[in-house]
Amino acid sequence: SPAFPGRCPETALHDVFGFAEFRPGQRDVIDSILAGRDTLAVMPTGAGKSLCFQLPAVMDGGLTVVVSPLIALMEDQVRSLRLQGVCAAAMHSGNAPGTNGDIWRQARSGELRLLYIAPERLALDGILDDLSDIGVTRLVVDEAHCISQWGHAFRPDYLTLARVRERLGVPTAAFTATADAATRRDIVDRLCGGDAREFVFGFDRPNLDLRIAEKRSPVKQLLAFLEDRKGESGIVYCLSRRAVEETAAALCRQGIPAVPYHAGLDPEVRSANQDRFVTEDGLVVCATIAFGMGIDKPDVRFVFHTDVPGSVEAYYQEIGRAGRDGLPATVQMLYGLADIAQRRRFVDESGASEDQRRIEHRRLNTLLGICETAGCRRQALLAALGEPLAQPCGNCDTCREPPETLDGLVPAQKVLSAILRTGQRFGAGHIVDVLVGGKTEAVQRHGHDSLPTFGVGTEFDRNGWRSVIRQLVACGIVAIDTAGFGGLTVGETGRAVLKGEAGVTLRRDTAKRTKTSRSSGQ
Ligand code: ADP
Ligand code: ZN
Repeated sequence: SPAFPGRCPETALHDVFGFAEFRPGQRDVIDSILAGRDTLAVMPTGAGKSLCFQLPAVMDGGLTVVVSPLIALMEDQVRSLRLQGVCAAAMHSGNAPGTNGDIWRQARSGELRLLYIAPERLALDGILDDLSDIGVTRLVVDEAHCISQWGHAFRPDYLTLARVRERLGVPTAAFTATADAATRRDIVDRLCGGDAREFVFGFDRPNLDLRIAEKRSPVKQLLAFLEDRKGESGIVYCLSRRAVEETAAALCRQGIPAVPYHAGLDPEVRSANQDRFVTEDGLVVCATIAFGMGIDKPDVRFVFHTDVPGSVEAYYQEIGRAGRDGLPATVQMLYGLADIAQRRRFVDESGASEDQRRIEHRRLNTLLGICETAGCRRQALLAALGEPLAQPCGNCDTCREPPETLDGLVPAQKVLSAILRTGQRFGAGHIVDVLVGGKTEAVQRHGHDSLPTFGVGTEFDRNGWRSVIRQLVACGIVAIDTAGFGGLTVGETGRAVLKGEAGVTLRRDTAKRTKTSRSSGQ
């Protein structure tokens, strides 16, 4: 029996959820779902996706099955739905014995409005039979990008959802915060039988101050960043569990309250740390990417990446956890040559097919392009997400302080020539030594001090050359041999540069610039 027969969505919004008005986009998505259409909604993190399927579930009555990848996320939503008097439950491996029996009873009696369930559970024998016996009104798939190999978070167990939809024979509503056109196509093909109403809402989060800087000494840079952020809640993302532990310890030593969070921690410690983050003010969580999905904390004032994320989508999703209350928040990323090499290695060693690896490299390149742009970061980011921004934003580091650029053709040719003449076997440190004329032991042993390129790099110091090389790697002029020992090689577009057929523009990165951008005290 419908809980709200004949009432309008606004009434349900006030009476059940206690909100005054719909947020942008919500009403359109809700109307489509209520009309029984297959629906795909791409809405930025924090936009209020859950309401878009919870409200129709309440209004229509019947049973809405919600597929969601994370237990924590399901439990959060179930808890707040019950507080609002909506009958909801989550079926997952963490349930106490007997709970699932109670849930089935509620479902059979027709009381249950929303049943959250993990994708791997839906694939279990018998579950689909039970659900189709009971009769399901609609299927909702959260984090729907997980079904696509084009997406950055592909989960094989999502593939079974296509069968679930066929079996239940009900309309599907799919939600995600990030999906480019190819991913959207894939979601609609697999989950909505090829045809759905698509809604794609704005990605721009104008309240986020976007900053990206060269990595020098991450912990020092983090402490400097935190200097005028005492008492603010924030997330520090690190690539490895060890870096997470070390960073949290370093912050605590400086008197900054910080806790670690990663998949290797005891589950109790992990959930205690997460609870503290959500409930306390001014706590810093140092985390691997395991942290954040489904965390609803509106006043996260900063997100700090000590390493470059794996793709634009991952970056966007992680920074999206800052400033959900719409107030100013700062997101800072550090990146360096070693990060790029490591990310490339991750892709090459992922065991994915060659096509898939090529896609992954391209995704990484797009992010590196944002790191290296001399233009507005937000324009670069939104362009990558398929939503071009007409004007520079004025709220990013490059807008506030446009980096100086220089004609990089000759420096690039010097780098390429040093790489070629040393046999495409050496890393950046050695190439820089050759360029600046450093008579290191290795340089002398290999006789590289007698090469014509030895000492020709008078225009930059060591840091300057490292930055040049990093930029050349980011744009594919120089490559890193991840299969071998990580030596630099001539990249895809390197030959054209050597012949002078392609131009190169570089940003002039100096230590000075990094300092001034900090002392401007934003
Ligand atoms: P998403 O899943 O899109 O990241 P959520 O569904 O978790 O976002 O919603 C983010 C926050 O916004 C939640 O705290 C939710 O209660 C709140 N919210 C959703 N819709 C509205 C609304 N119409 N008015 C006010 N707050 C809303
Ligand atoms: Zn900008």
